[in-house]
Amino acid sequence: MIIVLLGPPGAGKGTQASRIMQTHGLVQLSTGDMLRAAVSAGTEVGLKAKEFMAAGKLVTDEIVIGIIADRIEEDDCKSGFLLDGFPRTVAQAETLNKLLNDKNLTVDIVVEMKVDDESLVDRIAGRYTCAQCNKGYHDTYLKPQVADVCDGCGSANFTRRSDDNRETVISRLATYHTQTAPLLPFYKAQGVLRTIDGMADIDDVTVQINDVLSKLSA
Ligand code: ADP
Ligand code: ADP
Ligand code: ZN
Repeated sequence: MIIVLLGPPGAGKGTQASRIMQTHGLVQLSTGDMLRAAVSAGTEVGLKAKEFMAAGKLVTDEIVIGIIADRIEEDDCKSGFLLDGFPRTVAQAETLNKLLNDKNLTVDIVVEMKVDDESLVDRIAGRYTCAQCNKGYHDTYLKPQVADVCDGCGSANFTRRSDDNRETVISRLATYHTQTAPLLPFYKAQGVLRTIDGMADIDDVTVQINDVLSKLSA
């Protein structure tokens, strides 16, 4: 099964992707995580991507398509995968369709997570992750069970993304509306778009997504 999670920055894609990954045994492919890893490793891709990410702009299609094209060739993608943060432009979606078509595969479902812009700013401003295992948290909406200790790995070391500030968020939201939102009619025409209420609380969103996925496999 090939699933795309589509939604603005802060919609909850990463949070839900790791839950779906655990329950459905699908590998999660997050272009944001891959790009951040490239930036901190100082690779050629990382050097090219860095400025765009810091400004809240999209990295070029060429770079992200290159990353995804290589990644889906790996063994763990054979029984399907979950895309989180890719595609983000119509050109990326068209290329993805071609890459999949060559393997006799197709995007099975695109889950749009709809969230108001004001809530997104709030979610992004309070977001932080475990520096050890990358588990995501929020200052208000998702705190670790024991204060300052990661539920996943016990680490007390947390980080915040440098692009998760109020100025960059405005630019990332504008980028979403102009460059990524055109994917909605694109996938609607393909008959694979499902929209869920991303404003609901985290567990309720998981229920909605599982419901959509169960209808697909039924
Ligand atoms: P968020 O979780 O807030 O939606 P991501 O972690 O997915 O953000 O992405 C962080 C940054 O990485 C984006 O602002 C953009 O610069 C870059 N990026 C990630 N995925 C893509 C993509 N598919 N196309 C272009 N740029 C991307
Ligand atoms: P994305 O990957 O789409 O950018 P994240 O999954 O990182 O979004 O979520 C952004 C922030 O909002 C995180 O701090 C997360 O804990 C929190 N969050 C995610 N889903 C919800 C929700 N349904 N309600 C409230 N907060 C949420
Ligand atoms: Zn952890």
